[in-house]
Amino acid sequence: MAIDGPSGSGKSSVSKAVARKFGFHYLDTGAMYRAVAWWCLQQDIDLQDADSVARATVDLPLDMPLNPNDQRLMVDGNDITAAVRTPEISAVVSTVATNLAVRANLKSRQRALIARSRALGSGIVAEGRDVTTVVAPDAEVRILLTASEEARLNRRSAQLTKASVAQSEEALRDQVVRRDQEDATVSAFFEPAEGVVGIDTSALTFEQSVAAVNEVVTAQMPTQP
Ligand code: C5P
Repeated sequence: MAIDGPSGSGKSSVSKAVARKFGFHYLDTGAMYRAVAWWCLQQDIDLQDADSVARATVDLPLDMPLNPNDQRLMVDGNDITAAVRTPEISAVVSTVATNLAVRANLKSRQRALIARSRALGSGIVAEGRDVTTVVAPDAEVRILLTASEEARLNRRSAQLTKASVAQSEEALRDQVVRRDQEDATVSAFFEPAEGVVGIDTSALTFEQSVAAVNEVVTAQMPTQP
């Protein structure tokens, strides 16, 4: 199952909830781009230096979690789960995500993770910006979650407040609006591609968004409980 959407559309929390409901694995592809940004900064690699970033990506010893209840992200024995969620990483992650060599490397890692999950006999919910279109265009269920800019800004602000991260209005807009504009130069996630079901979550609560996705899954994968 593939779920895409811009930041603040609710895709991560909704995807995780759907994975739990169906007993599926869960793959957060955005965390992989965040891990690349963290790894490069850790080694003092200039993120504008596309070749060095691409080389570092190939070497990245990333251990991606697939359990929706345990999303501990490990790189080379370091737990970077919290470190990749800081505003510093959010501010620079688009620079690595618009590097096409990085995208190619992560795409093959993501496909390998999806294949591994399938080989284990599990379903998987993979979410991000280009999963419905590039990583898994043949997924049984493909959904694009969208939301108005206002709704997305409000959600991201509430998330940061909950995590006790102080953020100016300007920094918040940078994390949501500017980042999406930059990301949209390499992935299409504002309009559903052909065959992808669009769900506008602007006026929906979290529970209603999960219910809307479950409805699509149940209709398209009738064998699921
Ligand atoms: O979803 P999240 O905000 O954690 O994603 C972090 C960043 O990773 C995005 O801003 C985007 O630059 C990149 N990304 C991507 N393609 C994906 C998932 C995320 O380019 N499939």
